[in-house]
Amino acid sequence: MCGVFGIFGHEEASHLTYLGLHALQHRGQESAGIVASDGANLKSYRAMGLVADIFNEPVLAGLPGKAAIGHVRYSTAGGSHVKNAQPYQVSFAGGQLAIAHNGNFVDADEARAHLEQAGAIFQSDSDTENVIHYIARSRAATFEARVVDALKQLDGAFSMVFLTEKKLVAVRDAIGFRPLVLGRVKEAYVIASETTALDLIEAELLREIEPGEMVVIDENGLKSSFPFEKRPVSRCVFEYVYFARPDSKLFGEQVFSVRKRLGAELAKEQPIDADVVIAVPDSGVAAAMGYAQASGIPYDVGLIRSHYVGRTFIEPQQSIRHFGVKLKLAPVRASLEGKRVIVIDDSIVRGTTSRKIVKMIQGAGAKEVHLRISSPPTAWPCFYGIDTPSRKELIASSHSTDEIARYVTADSLAYLSIDGLARAAGDDSGKSFCMACFSGKYPTGLPAPAQVPASAQS
Ligand code: AMP
Repeated sequence: MCGVFGIFGHEEASHLTYLGLHALQHRGQESAGIVASDGANLKSYRAMGLVADIFNEPVLAGLPGKAAIGHVRYSTAGGSHVKNAQPYQVSFAGGQLAIAHNGNFVDADEARAHLEQAGAIFQSDSDTENVIHYIARSRAATFEARVVDALKQLDGAFSMVFLTEKKLVAVRDAIGFRPLVLGRVKEAYVIASETTALDLIEAELLREIEPGEMVVIDENGLKSSFPFEKRPVSRCVFEYVYFARPDSKLFGEQVFSVRKRLGAELAKEQPIDADVVIAVPDSGVAAAMGYAQASGIPYDVGLIRSHYVGRTFIEPQQSIRHFGVKLKLAPVRASLEGKRVIVIDDSIVRGTTSRKIVKMIQGAGAKEVHLRISSPPTAWPCFYGIDTPSRKELIASSHSTDEIARYVTADSLAYLSIDGLARAAGDDSGKSFCMACFSGKYPTGLPAPAQVPASAQS
């Protein structure tokens, strides 16, 4: 997962990009970068770490100009290394170019092998670099036509921003997996993965960049086109379940409201008699409130989250992940002791965190622990930019719900159904979602060697 940001036509472009990235920090905590254009040249700064640690006044002063793009990253394709930090900046026959990508190409390995055989030299491990090579090879007349040329040779998820000396270009794949929005602050146009980035810089939300849309912004204003072949739209439902910030408006609706509905739906589908509903913070909070309201069982704070550690799962090293649960969460004995507790979290991935959390709540004196998950079992890997592990590491791919309940040592465990998720996410109001991580039905071809049997493809 990653977050992207772009701005065109503002005196403080790199400063606002810095703020925008700060708001998108939850989408990637491994590295961040900004590239700015002063109209004649691009300048860039990228480093490992958090936005607030990487950038300071002197660094931003070295990124002058009225246009900029930025990126926050955690690795879904390519390792955790500064050479993979985006935006990438290169010079090619058409001038200078920078690129920032959220999503994943499913056919990136084949494309890379092909390009390498043709003489291309790659500087990163990431799937995004393919786009640069294809742009450089394109013979199309304009930069935006080269971008279209390049992206037509790849398949998968892309919400992307490009910067040249004179233009900001934003594109979203025709399936619309990852979010991307357009806003305006004073005379400037802004592009961001989520609306929370617009809110922070007091930009007005104009609209979503539509699936399959390309937007080109330069000194003449904004031009929109739909250069990619139309495909059935299939937005990532996991953005609603877990990934996006709850204050963002995503796919037309505030994420917090959707998450509350997931919790309410879960309460309807999976009721249980108990004394208190608690959340695994922060990911389970909205759904726990929805569950409590719908069930009439009081909501309480049973776990305190330290604000000084990142999301455990995002840390790439196994050793840190395991230690991280205790660093991150502590039980509130007063809310738990002697109680029958319903614990709400958004998802179970490997099951290791859930097991530790259940034991932590039991250790604080809870009489019963009932784990309720506001999404269906995560049994299939994501190839579109969510960092899920391989199929064999997903506990739900090889264990029944009862087995998982025993593993996490909960008195009971239940998940939201796929239909319940679709309903609560707004499927019936015409939105359609990619639920491949829950259903195994993938809306594109799969990377080779596929980890999924052909029978599971749609
Ligand atoms: P696990 O112990 O592996 O089952 O981890 C489950 C926790 O990871 C839940 O609290 C989720 O909120 C969180 N989670 C689920 N998917 C992701 C993801 N792609 N990136 C980071 N955290 C995640």
